[in-house]
Amino acid sequence: MFQALNIFNNIISDLSDLVCPRVCLICNNHIKVQTEILICPECTENLKKVDSFKKDQNEILSTVNLADLDFNIEYGCAFLKFDKHENTQRLLHALKYFNQPQVAVKMGKIAGYQLKNYSRFKDCDFILPVPMHPDKQKKRGYNQAERISYGLSQVLNIPIEERILKKIINTKSQTRMNKIQRKENSQNAYCAQRIEELSKKHFLIVDDVFTTGATLEVCAEALHKVMPESKISIFALAKA
Ligand SMILES: [Zn+2]
Repeated sequence: MFQALNIFNNIISDLSDLVCPRVCLICNNHIKVQTEILICPECTENLKKVDSFKKDQNEILSTVNLADLDFNIEYGCAFLKFDKHENTQRLLHALKYFNQPQVAVKMGKIAGYQLKNYSRFKDCDFILPVPMHPDKQKKRGYNQAERISYGLSQVLNIPIEERILKKIINTKSQTRMNKIQRKENSQNAYCAQRIEELSKKHFLIVDDVFTTGATLEVCAEALHKVMPESKISIFALAKA
């Protein structure tokens, strides 16, 4: 019975592939294998990884801890190296602009397995995705940082908490801004709400791309302001 069901599923999958062939978001080749996301196994394997997540000290952590923060970030790292015109850029564009939330979930899971191997973030109690302004989220249909967090959460067994961080100002695109401009642009855009019973917890703030670190810094500051007893770690799917 189980085998018959499997054959039936394969026929359905082959038929839908004939009607609407599945093409890899990165290399545009036809995807022949069963995969829940539109990236072929070769491209998934070839994504350039940052190996700093294997180290106790890494660039992201030192960048953020060198900022004008009056508290320390416990641990921070990124997973992929973001190179313009390369696979990681195509992937991040797909999960941000081409309505591909499942790619974000899958990448969160892939990163989660790697992080688990190195026992990273094992002490974290909650994942806080960098929030999106409600108007923007309505337009896009999802928040990619939340979808990446969802994938991570499934593998690391850390629940997501979305009541604490909010984005209250719909800021301009930061693509062409330097760090100071980015920080000014987002300084008052995020706010955090204190939740008494969670005030001493360890939070992992998650974003899609770490460019200058401004967004993660502003979110960490907002969180520290209302819950100074908490511990904060940070993670970005990719580092520019
Ligand atoms: Zn491919």
